[in-house]
This record gives sequence, structure tokens and C-alpha cells, in this order.
Amino acid sequence: MSFDHLGLGVELLKALNAKGYTAPSPIQALAIPAILDGQDILARAQTGTGKTDAFALPLVEILSRKTGSGRHPRALVLTPTRELALQVAESIKGYARRLAMRCTVVYGGVRIHPQIARLRRGIDILVATPGRLLDLAGRRHLYLSRIEFLVFDEADRMLDLGFSEEICEILDLVPAERRTMLFSATYTQQIRNLAGRMLKDPKHIDVTPRNTAAESVVQKLHLVDRSNKRTLLIHLITRENWSRVLIFTRTKHGANKLAEKLAAQGISAAALHSNKSQSCRTRTLKGFRNGEIRILVGTDVAARGLDISDLPYVVNYDMPGIPEDYVHRIGRTGRAGVSGTAVSLVSQDERNHLQAIEKLLKQKIPVVKVDGYTEDSDVPDFVLLRPDSASSEKRADKDLKELVARRNASKRRSRIRKAKTTGSGKSPGPNPKSRPGRRNEKAGKKPPRSGSRASQSSNQSKPRGRRFQIRRGQKPEQ
Ligand code: AMP
Repeated sequence: MSFDHLGLGVELLKALNAKGYTAPSPIQALAIPAILDGQDILARAQTGTGKTDAFALPLVEILSRKTGSGRHPRALVLTPTRELALQVAESIKGYARRLAMRCTVVYGGVRIHPQIARLRRGIDILVATPGRLLDLAGRRHLYLSRIEFLVFDEADRMLDLGFSEEICEILDLVPAERRTMLFSATYTQQIRNLAGRMLKDPKHIDVTPRNTAAESVVQKLHLVDRSNKRTLLIHLITRENWSRVLIFTRTKHGANKLAEKLAAQGISAAALHSNKSQSCRTRTLKGFRNGEIRILVGTDVAARGLDISDLPYVVNYDMPGIPEDYVHRIGRTGRAGVSGTAVSLVSQDERNHLQAIEKLLKQKIPVVKVDGYTEDSDVPDFVLLRPDSASSEKRADKDLKELVARRNASKRRSRIRKAKTTGSGKSPGPNPKSRPGRRNEKAGKKPPRSGSRASQSSNQSKPRGRRFQIRRGQKPEQ
């Protein structure tokens, strides 16, 4: 099937051609003609099935056929998260600008005034998160009385996030006479209730069997002791050379901590969650999309609805407590016909979550053993060496100590080279920063006696936190 027979105009067909889309996805083939026909839609579609374009294309097509006042929005798309709002708006804008229509996005966490200014310039399609939308409407910068089309994207997530009151308030502000489209990846009783309240004789579209994971995603799990999760993750990322990875943690703190620990191992990583400022979240996502950031560690709220092309790996560092979240998370990979891998690190205390997920999926996720990191190996066969830490030195084997010594020597050589090229003429000596008493001298204090406690801690200050990881019994790689 091609896009030609769905009822879209020439400009949009050209846009699809420019994007390289050759055929509509199943949800597009079903939803586009129905929306163009004026029907309400209740669609259950997995993430990554092309559901954004399934509503974006017919919306733009219909609105372009008759011009509005240009002052107030005629279509409103609601999303649960800011990231999804930005993403959806990007898609719609690509089509809207071809037909001289304006699409704007509003979401919280950023200054409201630039959004007010944009709304004043006039608008046809508005993409919004519920909180900021109500804020703008409450301050009378936004009138929703001209809304003809109302779209709920990831409606189940909106309810999970506790937006049901906001949804009721928004329904009070939009005209009763309108077309409504409700898209949800999972289909709970709550969603059925919401649909019953606001849809009129909707066309039911169901392109996935109930709560299943995308077939294009290879799933596997490692049973691992909680205390070994991080080292196993680092092992997988480095040994298997994973290029771009989205990792889910249960908490924001956990996301921060993991991103820091990965960065300390020289793996470029950043955290994404709702405690970060919106500008930081946008910057982080941009870095991840363009490849500057290799690992993105996020919580469900911020990272779940993301559409990142070419994302080969999703990792459940913590297993989700809500089984449906598993489907959403792993749906970030294996999108648009490209295969992906979803890896879950499951500790003993998460077995009940795993059982619930497997029950929902009606399938067992294959268990894969990684030598040295299995749940039953009480002592993992890796060591972390902190130079100058007596206990760590004791545990480290000869190979590892040699590796660290070689690295330190190479660093010293490069410092000397640098000093020569910058023309400072001074040789920095064996390790200038860790010379005893250096800091105290600066502070006008007498340097401590060599071998004293203060001198030792000064010596330790530089290498602390620099960790080298190596598997026991393996030759260190240089
Ligand atoms: P969505 O489910 O809307 O998040 O879309 C998932 C991905 O599929 C996005 O990157 C879209 O650009 C892409 N996509 C949507 N429709 C098509 C299509 N008909 N052919 C190829 N890719 C598509």
C-alpha cells in the first residue's frame, strides 16, 4: 500500500517522500482515512509504530483546507511529558510549515513569557503538557474555545502521572462539539473509562495484540546480585562496545549516581529526569541524539516517550514496578522496522517484578549468563583498584598494578611534553600535583613532615576516584 490512496494532499505526499517514507505503517493506514472522514479515534498502538504521523498528517491536511482566524488554536495535542511534546511538535511543524500553518509547543519548566509571545503571534496547532496549558489558559493568554481537534498522545501515561484532574479541566475548556483522538500504548480499564467519557462513536484501531513487546526487539535478562549491577553494566558496555544506550533507573537519584559512575569510568553519560532544568534536559537530549553523549540514564517520566532513531540498546537497570512500563521502555529501541536489544539486570529482590512482566507479555524473557557476574557467584571476578588505598592494593593482582603504573608513567610523559610545547620551560617532575605540602604551601602553612598523616592524605588526593577495572586472570588491555 502507498500513501497515495489515503486522502492526503500533494504537499503532504511530497513531505512524506522527502522523509523517505515509502508506505504507511499499519496504524497510519487505518487512522489517516478515518480521521479525514471525521471520526473519533481510539487507538492502541505500540510505541514506534508511527502513531505521531497517524494523527499529525490528517490534522494538518484538514486544517489546511479551511483557514481559521489564525488567532486561537484549532487543534490541541496533549502529551504527558515535555520531551514528548517537543518531539511531537517537531513532527507536526515539518508538515505544517509546508501549508503555511503555525504549530507551537508549550510545556512547563521554562519561562512562560516567550510562550505567551508566541501564542500572541497566532497559532493553528498547539502541542502542550497539561500543567502549562492550564496555566496559560488561567492567565487568559490562551483560548481553547475554537478547538476542533483534541488529541491525547500516550493517554495511559498521562493518567499514570496523575493528570486526570487536569484532563477534566481541559475538557471543560474545549467545545463539546469537536473530534477527539485518543492514543495509548496500553489499554487499561482507566483508559476505557476515559474513552467512554469523551469519545463519540469512535473507530477502534488496534494494531498490536494486548500488551506485547515489539517483535523487532530482542529481549534478554541477566540475573545478577544488586551490588554487581554497575560493574556488569560497564562490562557489557565496554566489552560488547555498545554505541548508544538508554538506561532506565527507578529513581532520579539512582540516575544521577549511575551517570556519574559511568562518567568516572570514562564513558560519556548523562542523566535525564524531572529534577533537571528544562534547558539541561533539552541539551542532554540533543547531545544524546547527535552522538556526543553515549549513555543516557533516565527515569520513566522523562525518557519513556522518546523517539531516538538508531537506538540499539535499552537497559532496565532497575526493573519497573508497573509491568506496562516495561513495554514502553523497551519500545524505545527496535523502532521503525530496525531491530534493537533490550537488556534487563534483575536482582533477587526484583524477581516479583519480572514475574509480573512475563505474565503480562505471556512469554519468558531468556536468561543469559555472563561469567563472573551471575547471581550465584558470591565474589565477582573483577577488582577495582584505587591507587594508594592499602586495602585495594592488597586485593589487586600484579597485572592490574602494572597497568596502573604504566598509565601513570604515560601521563607523566605527556605532562612533560605539554610543558615543553607550551614553553613554560619547567619540568613538572614526577607528579607535581601530589608533591607533599603543595596545597599547604599555597595556603601559607608549613608543609607537613613526609610520612605524616597530612602528607599521606595529600599524596592520595590526586589519584582518589581514579579507578581502573579489570577482570582477574585476564591480560590488561592497553
Ligand atoms: P512514533 O511511533 O510516532 O514515535 O514513530 C516512530 C518512528 O517511526 C519515527 O522516527 C518516525 O519518523 C518513523 N515513521 C513513522 N511513520 C513511518 C513510515 N510510514 N515509514 C517509515 N518510518 C516511519
